[in-house]
Amino acid sequence: MEIGITGGGIAGLTTAIALKRTGIQAVVYEAAPEIKAVGAGIGLAANAMKGFQKLGIDQAIMQEGRLLDALVIKDERGRLITKTDTLASSKKYGADNFTIHRARLHQVLMSYLDAAAVHTNKRLLHFERNGDKVHLHFADGSQGSVDYLIAADGIHSPVRQKLLPNVSTRYAGYTCWRAVIDYPTDHLREASETWGPNGRFGVVPLKDNKLYWYACVKAKENDLQYKNYTVEDLLQNFGSYHHPIPEVLQNTKTEQLIWNDIADLSPLPQYAFDTILLIGDAAHATTPNMGQGACQAIEDAVILADTIKKAPSLLDAFKEFERLRMARTQYIVKQSRLIGEVAQLQNKLIGGLRNSLMRALPASAQQKQLDKVLGVEF
Ligand SMILES: Cc1cc2nc3c(=O)[nH]c(=O)nc-3n(C[C@H](O)[C@H](O)[C@H](O)COP(=O)(O)OP(=O)(O)OC[C@H]3O[C@@H](n4cnc5c(N)ncnc54)[C@H](O)[C@@H]3O)c2cc1C
Repeated sequence: MEIGITGGGIAGLTTAIALKRTGIQAVVYEAAPEIKAVGAGIGLAANAMKGFQKLGIDQAIMQEGRLLDALVIKDERGRLITKTDTLASSKKYGADNFTIHRARLHQVLMSYLDAAAVHTNKRLLHFERNGDKVHLHFADGSQGSVDYLIAADGIHSPVRQKLLPNVSTRYAGYTCWRAVIDYPTDHLREASETWGPNGRFGVVPLKDNKLYWYACVKAKENDLQYKNYTVEDLLQNFGSYHHPIPEVLQNTKTEQLIWNDIADLSPLPQYAFDTILLIGDAAHATTPNMGQGACQAIEDAVILADTIKKAPSLLDAFKEFERLRMARTQYIVKQSRLIGEVAQLQNKLIGGLRNSLMRALPASAQQKQLDKVLGVEF
């Protein structure tokens, strides 16, 4: 039985590890010439860390990550809006919340796979089914054939586009810059997100005096003026925000900026298509407002391997995976989009009202959502 996985991102690599743990050697086909993380830092919430625990690789990831005490939301003057005690939640959910440089996460994941299991420079162009087989056609002219295909090829998945041509990505209405910089972070115990009239700014300490930051402003889709934005432009926009935001920007070089519009995927009617399964962003790409896209991809990997172990056949396992994952992943997509709309309110008056309402929210309301998202059992 040959299983191919298109995409060597967090979903593809974690799935390959999870399958290996059940005795199945899948082959990953990755478009890029090498497995390299695109992006900056990433938050791995307790549900993702619990998934890594189940795979037995959490310790290695924790060594490369940074444990945080809390996640705070502030206004542009630095006044607290909400605080989530992530250490307390760790105790409750049985795993900690970490931040990690994406490149390090990829290195750790790769270290658990045989080199022969990951084929780079294999951009899937199209596929067709032939009898029981799925035939794969790659951009380098080569072809492959597998019994089962797991598509983990991201938000623009060509596999999904062929299976569900009418499903499209949805622009969220804001554009985003990110960077990882050298910055003293030993004294920082919290990740923060600042909501203000000029947009949102997140500051996330990583290990080894590295800091990951992101900034989102409302914008038209694919507005090329933002593509050419420099650190000076961002300073113009966020320079009046509280410490350390201006200093963080001053310590960033324009060539370190990663820019992209934020989008998600409208809910899919199915994830399983007989011998083909969509997972990760290919199935349920979400906006980053809950920091859950990769966490859900990790849950996918663990649950898929578990389902395969229990089901009478892979066809049954794929269908069962769809049954188990659809409602939860689509809840995250919906909720995250909503949070983004609230967080990105840039009208001073409405923003002030929002902040007051948020401060008045009972802790139990926030707790309920945390329980739902982080309190996963594998
Ligand atoms: C600004 C931002 C911040 C985020 N922060 C967080 C966070 O803090 N926490 C969190 O959990 N999530 C976060 N996310 C979401 C997270 O990045 C994604 O959900 C996660 O990377 C999805 O993993 P994936 O493997 O499904 O897809 P991807 O990471 O997109 O990987 C897909 C892989 O498939 C490859 N590929 C694409 N096309 C082909 C093809 N045709 N053939 C072969 N290979 C192909 C790509 O090269 C890539 O390696 C954030 C997202 C953004 C945009």
